[in-house]
Amino acid sequence: TSLALKDPSLLKTQAYVNGHWIDGAKTFPVYNPATGELVANVTDLGPSDVAGAVDAAHAAQPAWAAKTGKERAAVLRRWFDLMVENADDLATILTAEMGKPLAEARGEILYGASFIEWFAEEAKRIYGETIPGHQADKRIVVIRQPVGVVGSITPWNFPNAMIARKVAPALAVGCSFVARPAELTPLSAIAMAVLAERAGVPAGIFNVLPSSDSAGVGQELCANPKVAKITFTGSTRVGRILMKQCADTIKKMSLELGGNAPFIVFDDADLDAAVEGALIAKYRNGGQTCVCANRIYVQSGIYDAFAAKLAEKVRGMKIGNGFEEGVTVGPLISEAALKKVEEHVSDALAKGARVLEGGKRAELGGTFYRPTVLADVTTDMKVAREETFGPVAPLFRFEDEAEAVAMANDTEFGLASYFYSKDLARVWRVAEALESGMVGINTGLISTEVAPFGGIKQSGLGREGSRHGVEDYLELKYLCMGGI
Ligand code: ADP
Repeated sequence: TSLALKDPSLLKTQAYVNGHWIDGAKTFPVYNPATGELVANVTDLGPSDVAGAVDAAHAAQPAWAAKTGKERAAVLRRWFDLMVENADDLATILTAEMGKPLAEARGEILYGASFIEWFAEEAKRIYGETIPGHQADKRIVVIRQPVGVVGSITPWNFPNAMIARKVAPALAVGCSFVARPAELTPLSAIAMAVLAERAGVPAGIFNVLPSSDSAGVGQELCANPKVAKITFTGSTRVGRILMKQCADTIKKMSLELGGNAPFIVFDDADLDAAVEGALIAKYRNGGQTCVCANRIYVQSGIYDAFAAKLAEKVRGMKIGNGFEEGVTVGPLISEAALKKVEEHVSDALAKGARVLEGGKRAELGGTFYRPTVLADVTTDMKVAREETFGPVAPLFRFEDEAEAVAMANDTEFGLASYFYSKDLARVWRVAEALESGMVGINTGLISTEVAPFGGIKQSGLGREGSRHGVEDYLELKYLCMGGI
């Protein structure tokens, strides 16, 4: 297919390594999940290409780190400006390879760009510390230095923003970066490299290696002693594999893993606000985000009213090709994703859940699944334990606060959670009791570059965004001066 781009040069299919556009021996196809049509054949690098890219990143990094924060900030700022200027084209490429509605894709581009802007600003503020000496002749200073070469592995659900959130702090503090984008969505990453080059990011500092061999490339990145750190967003399953593979070289790691977010609605909640919040937290990106509400707990006094209102709103959603006007839910990313959603719904129905809305594939065929609301959901169902990663809202009933908190925390995950209540004391109590790195209180949308995004428990390590976001890419060095 040919995409309607103002600047067709953004749709590139090569790898970007050490400032050069290169082709591998083979290519792999990228399909539009809404239509099944081929978007492009992309060059397919393999594990044997990793070492060369890492060598280049390693060689380029010291000169980048030696620049002043202000100089790096200026380059990042230009990159941010170019992303914003080209937001329409970047969104078109994103929707074509990933399927989300065009308006959401545009939102993702601006969201991704906001991290580049934010960390461009932070580049100038990598402050150290002085510590009063422990002996009269001693002076102690702490400086912060870039870790070095960063290897990145990212998923398909946010093909732009997941990379932006990592590369921006890394480059801001003086690291270099080797990115392996998801094989389903490499084109957005390559387009970022086109703009990085235009912005003046030096050769070797940002490298993009498309590959169909995720395991092979991942292994090479983890084993390479010149890679100081791996940053990964994806499933907890793959996060465990990468952590094991990083043990031999004691790599630093940032991991943004699975979610399974609870969304609790108390009797005293503002019903309309809670329904709106649930719509955003559940159906954004077709339910395919790691902070999507996965388990919705509703107190018995408000349960029926909430369920009816949510089902009514969901009935009004428009499912279809993300390029069509007014579409709010796109296709699922793959047949496998569709099967998982079907399996979760049929398991719930077999165990006594009721369909209030949806509950089956859409008439459009392909990987379209109707936005769904299930009532009478109980904790013995799969939807209570596993991330569905699709547009299914399972509604559990609860009686009191302690029960809701216990159910919400009964998971190995701890990324995001949400709740709605107007009682100030309860807001504090529940916010402190929920075991997650992020809590949305009377809101279903929490992601922003100004706040630290990340999980506890088996949802990961590290934080992205905010002034804390640079810490994942820095080492502390303590200087002890004696004989003074
Ligand atoms: P998701 O369910 O979001 O696709 P995954 O964890 O399966 O989550 O994938 C996230 C990213 O990790 C993707 O880019 C995928 O290609 C990559 N990946 C999958 N398996 C491995 C592996 N064994 N080693 C390295 N990367 C992997």
